[in-house]
Amino acid sequence: TISENSGIGSRILVFVRLRPMAKKEKEAGSRCCIRIVNRRDVYLTEFASETDYLRLKRLRGRHFTFDASFPDSTNQQEVYSTTTAELVEAVLQGRNGSVFCYGATGAGKTYTMLGTVENPGVMVLAIKDLFAKIRQRSCDGNHVVQLSYLEVYNETVRDLLSPGRPLVLREDKQGIVAAGLTQYRAYSTDEVMALLQRGNQNRTTEPTRVNETSSRSHAILQVMVEYRVKDAAMNVLNRVGKLSLIDLAGSERALATDQRTLRSLEGANINRSLLALSSCINALVEGKKHIPYRNSKLTQLLKDSLGGACNTVMIANISPSNLSFGETQNTLHWADRAKEI
Ligand code: ADP
Ligand code: MG
Repeated sequence: TISENSGIGSRILVFVRLRPMAKKEKEAGSRCCIRIVNRRDVYLTEFASETDYLRLKRLRGRHFTFDASFPDSTNQQEVYSTTTAELVEAVLQGRNGSVFCYGATGAGKTYTMLGTVENPGVMVLAIKDLFAKIRQRSCDGNHVVQLSYLEVYNETVRDLLSPGRPLVLREDKQGIVAAGLTQYRAYSTDEVMALLQRGNQNRTTEPTRVNETSSRSHAILQVMVEYRVKDAAMNVLNRVGKLSLIDLAGSERALATDQRTLRSLEGANINRSLLALSSCINALVEGKKHIPYRNSKLTQLLKDSLGGACNTVMIANISPSNLSFGETQNTLHWADRAKEI
């Protein structure tokens, strides 16, 4: 479990979530190239060519295994309970934790993180659970829950709760903060879904794809829990735990698992923050002393939420369609690599 692994040297927990086949994919004649067995093992099948689909010829099958793998029938509550519930508990004890969703555009990241009104995702379920846990232990009282929701788009940071001018990152005693970011004091779960839905609508849209959230925008929800405890000498101490829930930009073409690929991608006009995250994770995998957090807005903002004594969870979202084979393979390779941290 996460708590057993916490402390220095804790690793990242890596999960994979398969979404159901979409209508469009069915209509395009997709075949399913993913099989999940025992809620852990993922088998990826590559079909030889268009004409071989009918024979279901397996060419390069690959097998991966993760902390848990969710088949397309898995509901939101189960994804939340398995991936994030323990982080919420840790945050209530004054620790930091973060959950990243990554994968190609359309793979199910926003569904997993935000979800819908009928099927709320990890962000909403985490806050709901947080309030339930705080109520249970109301005797130690004084918990203050604050939310901030921001976007990193083209290396510009914007407040999703109160859209306006870009925010400047500043270094202060607590670390790197976005100056002027709204800290919304939340009292109950009911208000949160509407708040986050509205925030999500404020995410930058690509000019050519109006009504569609940009695939290049990262959304970060941070939930801060502040509370008071008394130590043995009856001194009152303030504790803060922070949970970061991150809906990353689409990872197509941007996930590099080695330094050479990374360098060739740096020249191209692709997502700097995603590359920087990839770089930081590679550096953590390799046990490097210097982790290049400064290379992007995203990694600066998440400096206190990656590696070290932090509890970090990655959820890799994938489509079942063979039409997305390349992206799925890339996502699974990267997820496999992240396990080693
Ligand atoms: P992304 O944020 O990765 O670009 P979305 O979360 O927007 O992808 O998902 C793409 C589409 O697939 C959306 O219409 C979404 O509602 C649907 N979808 C994704 N995951 C699931 C799931 N687990 N169950 C049902 N529908 C899903
Ligand atoms: Mg999305």
